[in-house]
Amino acid sequence: MNINAYKSILSSLPDGVKLIAVSKTKPASDIELLYNEGQRAFGENKALEMRDKHESLPKDIEWHFIGHLQTNKVKYIAPFVTMIHSIDSLELLQTVNKLALKNNRVIPCLLQFHIATEETKFGFDWEECKSMLNSAEFKELHNIEIHGVMGMATFTDDKPQIHSEFKKLYSYFTKLKEQFFSDNDRFTEISMGMTDDYPIAIEEHSTMIRIGSAIFGARNYNKQ
Ligand SMILES: *Cc1c(COP(=O)(O)O)cnc(C)c1O
Repeated sequence: MNINAYKSILSSLPDGVKLIAVSKTKPASDIELLYNEGQRAFGENKALEMRDKHESLPKDIEWHFIGHLQTNKVKYIAPFVTMIHSIDSLELLQTVNKLALKNNRVIPCLLQFHIATEETKFGFDWEECKSMLNSAEFKELHNIEIHGVMGMATFTDDKPQIHSEFKKLYSYFTKLKEQFFSDNDRFTEISMGMTDDYPIAIEEHSTMIRIGSAIFGARNYNKQ
């Protein structure tokens, strides 16, 4: 846990860029330490882990779901999740809509795009996303609200490549805004940038950076 790194990242952020503290794999006690510094937005990538942390922690925390989400897990987070960053199919969006309705709420969502060269990363490509937004099925979804886009750049030291991948996400955002969301004031978010690439993401118009290891330290998946 590195509170000084947290404070220095926070103070370096331009207006209009929000910090999501990515607490996946970390104990609730670490979240509490950061909560006591005033941080309210936390990111998790496992539905059950997010549900358990939500149950044990203060109720004014904003919970951002940032990982690949299986449709059969949506029910665990639908009652409280603040925003789902990782919508990557119509089927997932339909499930989120159904469970949002059941919980009598509207869930803010971001459309995740595949901008990296790695095949293992998730997300729409442009044509796929466009055909979803044009579909009759999409137009029937009244308990989700699309607030913008999300993406992850390739894990590489090649800075020009990272710039170009984030530029691509920004161009998707502007095209979607023009073609589909011009009268939606809430279509404003570009979720991009992690510990190793967030300064580049900010240069390329990020509005939400998702930072884990710089704040909480390296993750140890073997301990899980
Ligand atoms: C883990 C994760 C992050 C944070 O990664 P760090 O490199 O630890 O900052 C951000 N976004 C997503 C989608 C993640 O899964």
